[in-house]
Amino acid sequence: MPVTRLSIAQLTGQDESQLVTLPCGNQMLGEAAQAFACLAREASEAGFELSIVSSFRSFERQAAIWNGKASGLRPLHDDDGVPLDWARLSTQQLLHAILRFSAAPGTSRHHWGTDIDVCNLAGVGTDYAVQLTPQEVAPGGVFDSLHRWLDQRMAADTSHGFFRPYAQDGGGVAVERWHLSYAPLSVTCAGQLSTELVGGCWEEFDGELCLRGELLAQLPEILQRYTAVAENWCPARYRRAH
Ligand SMILES: [Zn+2]
Repeated sequence: MPVTRLSIAQLTGQDESQLVTLPCGNQMLGEAAQAFACLAREASEAGFELSIVSSFRSFERQAAIWNGKASGLRPLHDDDGVPLDWARLSTQQLLHAILRFSAAPGTSRHHWGTDIDVCNLAGVGTDYAVQLTPQEVAPGGVFDSLHRWLDQRMAADTSHGFFRPYAQDGGGVAVERWHLSYAPLSVTCAGQLSTELVGGCWEEFDGELCLRGELLAQLPEILQRYTAVAENWCPARYRRAH
C-alpha cells in the first residue's frame, strides 16, 4: 500500500519500517525508489551512472552529526570551505555554521525516505572518493554533465518527480545541487512539519542533543530559515495544499 502520510516517528527518522532497501543498500519509500529506478535507467541510456550517495538518515545518525559539529569534534567550514575555529564562535554563529550545511535532528529531509544525494559514478575513476562539494557539481566539475542532464529533465518535467529543494540560496541552507527530492511525496512530508511536532521531538529525545535549549528557543526561526525551502522549488502541480 502506498505511503501517503508518515507518522511522527517516521517523519523524524525514528521509524524506518516503511522503507524499502535498494540493491545498493540505501533505503527509500517504495514509490520514490521506483521513480528513482526509472530516472537511473534513463540516465544510464544517456551515459551516466546515477548513484545514490546518501538516502534515508535516521534521527540518531543526524544527532551524531549534529553533536559532533556542535561540540567541535567534527570540522566546521564557511561558505568558501575555509575551516572555522569552533572555540571562537558565538552560540549564534555556531548554530548558523552547522545549520547552513547540516539539518538539526528531526528536521532533515533525509529522514523522509524521499530525498537523496546523487552523483555520477561514470564520471570518476573507481578510486575516486565522492565528497559532494560545490566544485564537483560546478561547470567543469566531475558531476557537471549529470547535473546539466538533470536540469534539462527537470525543466521538461521528465525527471520522474525529482527536483532540487536546495537550488537557491535564501540565506538558510547552502545550495546543494546533488540533493534531489521526490516531490510527489516530500511535499506532504514538508507540510506535516510544525513547531509543535519538531519541538516535541527535541524535548522527548532521551539521548544527547547539544544546544537543545537554543534549538527550542529558536525553533520557529530555525524552521523558517533552514527547513522551509523556496516556494517554487518544484512544479506547482506537486505543491498540493495539505
Ligand atoms: Zn542531501
